[in-house]
Amino acid sequence: MLSGIQPTGELHIGNYLGAVRTWRQQIEEGTEETMFCIVDAHAITVPYEPKELRRNIDAFAIDLIACGLDPEKTTLFVQSDVREHTELAWYLASVTPMGDLHRMTQFKDKGEGKDFVSTGLFTYPVLMSADILLYKAQIVPVGEDQVQHLELARETARRFNHRFHGEGGVDIMVEPRPRLSSTPRIMGLDGTSKMSKSKGNTIGLFEEPKPFWDKLKKAYTDPLRLKLSDPGRPEVCNIYTMHKAISADETILEVAHKCTTAAWGCVACKQVLFDNFQKELIPLRTKRAQLDIEKVRQALGDGASKARRIAASTMTEVRTAMGLGSLAT
Ligand code: SF4
Repeated sequence: MLSGIQPTGELHIGNYLGAVRTWRQQIEEGTEETMFCIVDAHAITVPYEPKELRRNIDAFAIDLIACGLDPEKTTLFVQSDVREHTELAWYLASVTPMGDLHRMTQFKDKGEGKDFVSTGLFTYPVLMSADILLYKAQIVPVGEDQVQHLELARETARRFNHRFHGEGGVDIMVEPRPRLSSTPRIMGLDGTSKMSKSKGNTIGLFEEPKPFWDKLKKAYTDPLRLKLSDPGRPEVCNIYTMHKAISADETILEVAHKCTTAAWGCVACKQVLFDNFQKELIPLRTKRAQLDIEKVRQALGDGASKARRIAASTMTEVRTAMGLGSLAT
């Protein structure tokens, strides 16, 4: 199983509830070999500051390990430390029709209205296909917004296998299967779009309690609930979605009841959510405070070495099948 996260901005509560917490559970279950990649080469497809990117890579690695992505139990690495990602992306571009990339909705969303749209943003899904196919990953956990990209990776694997063959005619690429997140989509604090660093509608997972609460208490709720006496509609409220992701079952029932009967106001409801977040975050904060950046970088280096061994083996197959290089073996 392989997944990746882009080191942009900071790790936020949407990342945690929608992905990272599930990754930790999968590592703890130990039923699958897992790989997690900090996808820095994806982060450069939009304008960025190099020094900030470097800082973010360290920060994401620390935060992910604090969240339970223990490098002793999983392979955690940085994408650009394994050069084969970008090499394979170029080769896969040769079997990816431009029409498929034009259909990608994320490109349209991210590129719309911008003065500068990089070619990298357009070919981003090809690099994502390479990230997955390089390791012959069988399962890729995805949110709804990534399903289209994963379908492209599957299609790319089929196209590659149709055109090129390994020794004895075997398929080289493995078609990855999506594993849809069971957590409903967490919207941003504005309640109108996905929680996303680029939209500035997030709460950092490791923000101090006061700024965390200051942001949460202003978060958008049911727009028709104007007065305390108005019954609310939990099913349209992002705060309720977060309760469902983090609160105990009896609390979720209590939230639904007190909301629909106007037994409490939104601030009280958010206070309970805030307390539950803090309870969950205490052990993560403790772990994070104990992490040493040099040891974290060492762990990333070890992770990259392990990833490189798998990547090198796939690339030997790929180059040979495609007839590339003077010493293709
Ligand atoms: Fe949302 Fe809670 Fe307010 Fe209901 S009471 S609208 S669930 S914040």
